[in-house]
Amino acid sequence: MKAFSKRRVVLLGSTGSIGQSTLQVAAAMPEQIQIVGLAAGSNAAALVAQARETGVKHVALNDASQEAWLRAQLPADVKVHVGEQGLIELATLTDADVVLMAIVGTAGLMPALAAIEAGKDIAIASKEILVMAGEVITTAAQKRGVRLLPVDSEHNAIFQCLDGHRGGQAEVARLILTASGGPFRKWSSELLDSVTLEQALQHPTWQMGPKISIDSATMFNKGLEMIEARWLFGIEMDRIDVVIHPQSVVHSMVEFIDGSIMAQMSRTDMIFPIQYALTWPRRLAGAMAPLDFSALAALEFEKPREDVFLALSLARRAGQIGGTMPAVMNAANEVAVQAFSKGSIRFPQIWQVVSQVMDQHAPQSSAELREVLAADAWARAAAAICCA
Ligand code: NDP
Repeated sequence: MKAFSKRRVVLLGSTGSIGQSTLQVAAAMPEQIQIVGLAAGSNAAALVAQARETGVKHVALNDASQEAWLRAQLPADVKVHVGEQGLIELATLTDADVVLMAIVGTAGLMPALAAIEAGKDIAIASKEILVMAGEVITTAAQKRGVRLLPVDSEHNAIFQCLDGHRGGQAEVARLILTASGGPFRKWSSELLDSVTLEQALQHPTWQMGPKISIDSATMFNKGLEMIEARWLFGIEMDRIDVVIHPQSVVHSMVEFIDGSIMAQMSRTDMIFPIQYALTWPRRLAGAMAPLDFSALAALEFEKPREDVFLALSLARRAGQIGGTMPAVMNAANEVAVQAFSKGSIRFPQIWQVVSQVMDQHAPQSSAELREVLAADAWARAAAAICCA
């Protein structure tokens, strides 16, 4: 077998939950993975610590006001890039083979498109950019002949289940995304009205950043993932289903037209999908222990409560309408999550704000970059009014 050639990785969003897990993967496999650039939003101190630890020669910080401080902390041979242009410079570094997108929200869209244009493979955790501009990203990747490697555990699972399948999409009956159901899986509508931020941040099975934890609690995370799957695997929305699986051991499944189902299982740790995305198409020995089946009491599956967790039907509707509607849903959700985090709206109002903004939107069928950016800006303003 051909020797594995080392992957040189630029990591955008290095100071977050996925970013830190990616650095763990790289530290455990120094012969196979080399981090060549790190980027964050505003946490300059954490970025400096990571740069010293990894020895990268390029760092980027979106917050340009900290440029002088950042330069003063780092050796002269480390190049400091700032602002959105700085993120783009990092995403297009000639030294890199792969750019891992782990920036929360949509700030990574332009850097991702620049990386694709520069011929880099993209390992993608930032689901929001695929929901907002899935058609733009996948078309650009196809044109440039670069790969989109899913990092999100569900999509990475489906990617693994489809790896080696020769029959194409026509033989796929459905993609089945598993969902833990979040902390409020069994709560009544009345109780949901009193949810606090602290409760929403307590995910039962995964340790994640704050935005995705709240998205998991509302189930918008699964809604975003349905649209993400639509673009990553080129499958229509009505062949994408969600099943609740509280243990988060089966990370997702593919049902084929003969009724056979392939599932991918592993421990609940993002180390696995990150490693697979960065070493694909090879499987390399890693630091994580395999599943201990004797320690698993049960694997349960149940239908989601779509009448209470409205995010799933809103996402299905947005994905089916297509065009600019997914960008609108995503932007309204981001604004509503921020408003809930600041205590301006109650938990169930996140669904109501997104629904109202989607109802007000006259979707355009063309989802070119210009239209998508305009729809995103419109939806943020409309959602802010709903949250006021
Ligand atoms: P975190 O909130 O933990 O981290 C977000 C990262 O994005 C930080 O490094 C932050 O930098 C950076 N960032 C924020 N805004 C900007 C900006 N404008 N420019 C550059 N960098 C920015 O999020 P997660 O790691 O949890 O999630 C990241 C993405 O991965 C999300 O899209 C999420 O949906 C997806 N994902 C996460 C999973 C998880 O287990 N956490 C699982 C699957 C997908 P700073 O620290 O400086 O603010």
